[in-house]
Amino acid sequence: MNEAKRKSVCVKLVALLALSLLTFSLHALEISNRYRSPRNPERRVRRSTSLIVLHTTEAPERSSLNKLSERGEAHYCVTESGRIYAIVDRDREAYHAGRSMWNAKEDVDNCSIGIECVGYHDKPMGIVQLKAIASLVKELKKMYRIDDSSVVCHSHVAYGAPNKWQKRRHRGRKRCGMLFATQTVRKILELSSKPRRDPDTRAGRLAVGDPYLNRVLYGNLDTMAAHYHTPRSGAALAARNDGGKALPAKLSAPKVAATSSSGGAKKKNAAIVAAAQPEPKSEKDLKARGYILKGVVSKGRTASSVAGARWNSPSTYYVLRGKLTKGNMVNPAKIEVGTAIWMK
Ligand SMILES: [Zn+2]
Repeated sequence: MNEAKRKSVCVKLVALLALSLLTFSLHALEISNRYRSPRNPERRVRRSTSLIVLHTTEAPERSSLNKLSERGEAHYCVTESGRIYAIVDRDREAYHAGRSMWNAKEDVDNCSIGIECVGYHDKPMGIVQLKAIASLVKELKKMYRIDDSSVVCHSHVAYGAPNKWQKRRHRGRKRCGMLFATQTVRKILELSSKPRRDPDTRAGRLAVGDPYLNRVLYGNLDTMAAHYHTPRSGAALAARNDGGKALPAKLSAPKVAATSSSGGAKKKNAAIVAAAQPEPKSEKDLKARGYILKGVVSKGRTASSVAGARWNSPSTYYVLRGKLTKGNMVNPAKIEVGTAIWMK
């Protein structure tokens, strides 16, 4: 091969590589294998897949991931910053639902995919995390031909054995994943329907053990409605942007602060201090807490070029017209020119 020919082959190869990388980023989700469970080989391959079950870990990120991986208790885990980890192979059984029943079928582990989301059943999650959950759910729905009303939360399917307080088997053993049953959050997840009634309490197989949970799952109690708001009306939620990636366009950040930052054990004390302090409300507050102004978003300067990898961290603050938004609550498609970014 002469020099010119070699050069042209090289150029073609580089172009091909660039194209394939681009295709990858457009069509596939980025999923990390860092916490893949050692339990994988011993788990049975599932015969069918008819449900997607959403959970909340009720614990911080690091300990959640370690526990899930060690015990093989989920297929995926989605963190506050929107990172997706594969835990158990998606065609094998993960032990995520425990004592469970749906439509008379017991042990839903053998017919479902379990997604754990770092967070709490009664606290709002950031837009970045919800957007990641939405894209994962979308892929899985397509892959297994699952409809929106078969995307449930753990509390839909968990049930309790008779005990001191409940003479019968009953629904309401857990409130895990409860926020994913609210209309507000389902809209953000682009789920147009949910189970309308509990097939098992309705048929008398189970008693209603937790009336409050029952109202969230099947009534009109929307525990998340106050935490997310749209400038005009709920109709804006249906609007789309982000090049067809379907994001609630006008959705602004939740009014309530996100759960404490994800992170290591070392930060535990810092998290406790942070929890004790009120949230910063102005640039003056940020300055007083040792934050520095990293830069301002402009036409030629994106948020990630100002903030780097921590652009969507809860400890990064975006300030526009005096309003502060945490990095994990920011809608990346809606960061305006002139937004100041503060970091530690
Ligand atoms: Zn759960």
